[in-house]
Amino acid sequence: MQYFLAVIGGGPAGYTAAEKALKAGKQVVIFEQESLGGTCLNVGCIPTKTLLYSAKQYFNAVNADKYGVHADTVSFDYGKMAQRKQKVVRKLVAGIKQRLKSDLCTVVNAAATVVSRTDEKVVIEANGEQYEAANLLICTGSTNFVPPIPGVKDNVAVWDSTDALAATVLPQSMIIVGGGVIGMEFATLYHELGVPVTVVEAMPQILPNLDPDIVQLLRDKYEKSGIRILTDTKVMSLEGGKVTAQTATSEDLTLEAEHVLISVGRRSRLTGLEAMTDLAVNRGITVDEKMRTNLRNVYAAGDVTGKIMLAHVASRQAEVAVANMLGETDQTIDYNAIPSVVYTNPEIAGVGRMEKDLAEGTYEVRSLPMAFSGRFVAENEGETGLCKMIIDKETRKVLGVHMIGNPCSEFVATASFAVRMGYTVEQMEQVVFPHPTVSEILKEIL
Ligand code: NAD
Repeated sequence: MQYFLAVIGGGPAGYTAAEKALKAGKQVVIFEQESLGGTCLNVGCIPTKTLLYSAKQYFNAVNADKYGVHADTVSFDYGKMAQRKQKVVRKLVAGIKQRLKSDLCTVVNAAATVVSRTDEKVVIEANGEQYEAANLLICTGSTNFVPPIPGVKDNVAVWDSTDALAATVLPQSMIIVGGGVIGMEFATLYHELGVPVTVVEAMPQILPNLDPDIVQLLRDKYEKSGIRILTDTKVMSLEGGKVTAQTATSEDLTLEAEHVLISVGRRSRLTGLEAMTDLAVNRGITVDEKMRTNLRNVYAAGDVTGKIMLAHVASRQAEVAVANMLGETDQTIDYNAIPSVVYTNPEIAGVGRMEKDLAEGTYEVRSLPMAFSGRFVAENEGETGLCKMIIDKETRKVLGVHMIGNPCSEFVATASFAVRMGYTVEQMEQVVFPHPTVSEILKEIL
């Protein structure tokens, strides 16, 4: 039998693609060597957010005094938090299995290797069997990058994010190498549970890709509450939990902790594709805006493309890929309107252009403390937060919105609509926001 679509990788890109093709009545085979749901569900977004939620419950209880609540004997059980995280993961993975249950779908729980490819068909081997498909979608994801720093390899004190999520006991102390998204989310988790945390970031700013004003607010708050943050500092070597680092002024630092979390980025996973020697790869698999590779019937989606490594980008890329296989050739991905969230406390969320992306004089920036929202003040004692909106000077279109303050992750999608649909300030003014909600900040700022 020849399948319409073979999908390698069962993460957000893979299962979204399979579902879309199944809905169109096509035969699909999907290969997953570990567990359906991929990094996001098993060792990424979902387990992290589950643990962060537990930590936030504890942290809020400990700090409840400011809301007139005395919780004098609050304690936590990390083993129980870890168990609940696994329960959440199992439930969601079962949900994905259910969604792929169809006479048209074959799920193969094994590593897939491409054996051969022509413009007519792709042949894939898994578990000693061969499968043929008219189209191939590669969504093999990414793996944690291991930097070539002496002492990182084979060091039992070193964790990556997968090790950190697998632990059932909290570390006594933690050094986090890389103050990016993973680093700052784990810094939040450990700090809220009382673990001393030091973050070492090579760039002058933690979360270097985000708006500096927003990030500065987070940094100020985290440093005040006891997280040690070293920027412009490079890790030179490790020995057990001992880290030698160097500042921008060449000052040597020695830091020590029970564990060292390495979170310096992820790299596309390209194993099993070696037979396609002519597949164009540049950091990730090269794709166009329709998710086509340079090979006629081969598409790629998700982290393996090396574009923006976010689950929601992967899902949209997968939808676009399958749409194009099905002949819906007007479907493309718009990277200008991808929302992103960092689950620190307070949360950071944003979408669209930042000041650094734009030529001076072409845009206007409006900034407003989140405290202009009544609901925010009611629920965020002692916090100010910030919302920034970037507006095109000529067209008055909303180009970007960047925020810090809880729960901005829940309404950044509203800003995504505006950016994606090209709404002007005047069009946004016609939208009615429910009161009292923190989302009203998007109205106040206009
Ligand atoms: P990242 O690229 O976000 O951050 C890596 C950080 O490490 C950067 O700030 C970089 O400057 C720093 N760094 C690199 N080498 C260093 C060194 N030798 N010493 C000190 N610092 C160094 O990568 P990440 O945090 O590992 O996350 C990987 C991917 O997963 C990202 O694409 C991220 O967007 C995604 N992710 C997203 C979320 C979310 O959406 N909430 C959560 C987790 C991960």
